[in-house]
Amino acid sequence: MKFCYCPDCKDLQPTAWYRRKECKLCGGKCRIISVPLYYYGAAMYALSAVGAFLVGAEILRYDLGLGDLRLYLMFGSLILAMVFAALETARAVEIAQKKVGKVL
Ligand SMILES: [Zn+2]
Repeated sequence: MKFCYCPDCKDLQPTAWYRRKECKLCGGKCRIISVPLYYYGAAMYALSAVGAFLVGAEILRYDLGLGDLRLYLMFGSLILAMVFAALETARAVEIAQKKVGKVL
């Protein structure tokens, strides 16, 4: 996960690789803080993949032999993926803030 830190505004914003490295507030150049993906992020991707697979099987009417369990798994994995995404973001923000604190 990447963050954009503006030393002028003291503003820390999550950013994506395709976004321009500019501060949203003042338009100045910001420093990129990278936080490596952690277990939460890996779990999020894994659960999203499971959820997407189950949804795909459902759309194609492919019988996985799970009965009603597939519905619980489908929603369960997608909801858990969201929970892990939130945990990952919260953790990454904390680390980015610590990194910024160290640098300054
Ligand atoms: Zn700024």
